[in-house]
Amino acid sequence: MSRSPLTTFKFSIPASDGGAGPGLDPQLWTRVRRQKVGIPKTKPTAFQFHEAVFEHCPLGTCGAMRDNEPRTSASMNELIYDWNKADVTNVTTAKRPLLNDETLRDGLQSPSIDDPPIEKKIEILHLMADLRLDSANLGLPGAGARAREHALRLAREIASAHLPIHANCAARTVESDIHPIAEISQSAGIQVEAATFLGSSPIRQYAEDWTLDFLLRATEQAVRYARSLGLPVMYVTEDTTRARPETLRQLYSTAIRNGAQAIAVCDTVGHATPAGVRALLQFILDEVVKPSGESIRVDWHGHSDRGLAVCNSLAAFEAGADQVHATALGIGERVGNTPMDQMLVNLKLSGAIDRDLTRLKDYCAVISEAVGIPIPPNYPVVGADAFRTATGVHAAAVIKAYRKNDFELANQVYSGVPSHWFGLEQKIEIGPMSGKSNVIYWLEKRGLKPDPERVERILSAAKNADRVLREEEIMGVVQ
Ligand SMILES: [Zn+2]
Repeated sequence: MSRSPLTTFKFSIPASDGGAGPGLDPQLWTRVRRQKVGIPKTKPTAFQFHEAVFEHCPLGTCGAMRDNEPRTSASMNELIYDWNKADVTNVTTAKRPLLNDETLRDGLQSPSIDDPPIEKKIEILHLMADLRLDSANLGLPGAGARAREHALRLAREIASAHLPIHANCAARTVESDIHPIAEISQSAGIQVEAATFLGSSPIRQYAEDWTLDFLLRATEQAVRYARSLGLPVMYVTEDTTRARPETLRQLYSTAIRNGAQAIAVCDTVGHATPAGVRALLQFILDEVVKPSGESIRVDWHGHSDRGLAVCNSLAAFEAGADQVHATALGIGERVGNTPMDQMLVNLKLSGAIDRDLTRLKDYCAVISEAVGIPIPPNYPVVGADAFRTATGVHAAAVIKAYRKNDFELANQVYSGVPSHWFGLEQKIEIGPMSGKSNVIYWLEKRGLKPDPERVERILSAAKNADRVLREEEIMGVVQ
């Protein structure tokens, strides 16, 4: 039965039973008293009364207040008022938000990473498929022999292992970059989208001495060439977030006219704010895509230079983008790209996707190790501290929830992210800000008796420490 714990149950005893009066249906009390043995006939304490009513509450409102009583997940909605859903422009389930994993291309452009061996990249590709990511960029084969060989091996893996993930490869708008993609596609026997990119902002045009005519010619030739090889084309404008509307209109229209079936709007240098993303995408959809009369996929590709990549990518979906590009842990050029893991978390929390993400930590851990970028302890969800607390007030609330045998409540009472959705759990530790409940819980979890003297000894060690105690330090005090 679905219970609604927010409904306050009134403890008052009906006047007919010698109680103070209103709040309880007298018939209910009579029924309870009749059925329950051992309840005083008159003037029971509120506690006795409440205990009796647990079994008989006609509203089903009492269960959540009782230890060891499972609470249904539906009722969590009543325990958390979600202001995020007050905005109707929020990402919804109206259309499936697509995700393109750029870890093995843009991610590997991070100046601090080691390019993993192909065996690791294949393992990573499988993890992407496990997370049901829609597509993966397999690299920029025009960059050299190693990049070409790796992209080919990855494409062959998708084919031979029947991985449910689409492939794309990056290319400058030159034939020497596009041709190897066609070779990979043919050799692996799968479709590979060519993501042909070209600078679009006036600052880049000025630095490179490019005219608009040159950009339009390069666009037309590259898209036509890729299409002539049978490749689907995602036309990518670099630095779109600082490009003039008229330039973008002409570039995208030329690409679409020549057969591009997708366009990628890029915040290449991490300049955009969410308001800018919305304005830009509104323009692209209204002034470019709609007038084309074609069914064009619109992608958003963002970077983290201002620390806004996740917000911008969510804003892009809200503004109507079909697909967002992201990388594991946000690794990428300079300070990196939109973090894929954080996108998955946010899309799941907003209800826009509903899929098993318990392998998210494996995806992050494998990639972190493969590229040599450690995950900071305070990193969202997959950082070591994401669900770890030693603070007395926080821990006490979590522990009370555990004592109710309410796993879901424990994982949400002090966390905006339910750890169990991601295969993780809350950790209660002991430090200077801890209270007795931390210590008692910590000991019980390890099968140790929480006798008062032992608890006091550990707590006093914690109060004199300048940080959270390590396991072996606490065990040293326990002995
Ligand atoms: Zn990028």
